Amino acid sequence: MRFQTLASGSTGNCSVILAGKGNDRVTVGLDCGIAQRTARQYAESVGASMTSLDAVLLTHCHSDHSANIVPVAARAKAPLYAGEGALGLNRRTSWSELQRRKVEYRAIADRGSFEVGPLRITPIQVPHDAEPTFGFLFEADGQRCAYFTDLGRTEVLQQNGLLDGVDTLILESNHDVQMLAQGPYPSILKQRVGGDLGHLSNDQTRELLAAAAPTSLKQLVLAHLSLKNNHPELALEAAAAGLRARGLHDVAVAVAPARGPLRESP
Ligand SMILES: [Zn+2]
Ligand SMILES: [Zn+2]
Repeated sequence: MRFQTLASGSTGNCSVILAGKGNDRVTVGLDCGIAQRTARQYAESVGASMTSLDAVLLTHCHSDHSANIVPVAARAKAPLYAGEGALGLNRRTSWSELQRRKVEYRAIADRGSFEVGPLRITPIQVPHDAEPTFGFLFEADGQRCAYFTDLGRTEVLQQNGLLDGVDTLILESNHDVQMLAQGPYPSILKQRVGGDLGHLSNDQTRELLAAAAPTSLKQLVLAHLSLKNNHPELALEAAAAGLRARGLHDVAVAVAPARGPLRESP
C-alpha cells in the first residue's frame, strides 16, 4: 500500500492511495480541493491515475477538500464516499450536481468500515467546524495507514488503541501557536483555527505523538501546514520531540508540500 499526498493545506488538499497487486490493484482518491487538471498531472508524476480511480473519499465539506471532488468522481466513474452532511451545502457538491454528473453516492459513518477491493477503509469522525469531518484508517497488504487532518483536538486518536499497528501516519501540524497569535489573521479566524474545532498546532501534534504514537510507526508525514502561521522546520522539530519522548528513534518524518507530491512518501 502506498499513500501519496498530492496537495496539502488550506490552498487545497488531494491524495491517492494505491493498494493491492496485479488484478487486485486499486487506486482510491481522497479529497480534491485543487484543479482537476493539476491533480491529474501530480498523480501521473507518481504513477497514479486520477481518471481510473476505484473510489473517491471526502473528509468534509470545506472547499479546500471538496471543491472538485464531484468532477473527479464523475470523470473516474467512481463512487463518492462521504458523510451525508458533507454534501449539498454548495453548488459544486449539491445533490443535483451529483445526479447531473451521474455520480454514485455512498454514505459513510464513524467506524463503519468498508472495502474497496483489497483495501479496508475505516472512517473516524473528528472534531472540526464542519459536521461531519472524518479521518481514515487504511489497511491492505499487511500494512496500516492513518490520515488525520482538519481536527481541533486529539482525544479521539488516543482512545482504544486507534493508532495501534499503524506504520504510516499522515497527521496535521497546522500552526505554531505563537506565529498564529502574532500573525496576520483577524482575531475571529485566529480563534477558529486555534480552537477546539479548528486545526492541530505543532504543540498538539507533539503531545499526541508523545502520548500515542504507535511503536509500529515507520513513516510520519506532517500535513495541512499553514503557509502563514507555520514553518516546516518548527513542525518537524515539534514532531521529532514528540517521537523522542515516546522512545521512537527510527521514524522517517517529512512534510507534505502544499503543492505537488511528496516524493519521499512510502
Ligand atoms: Zn482543510
Ligand atoms: Zn476543514
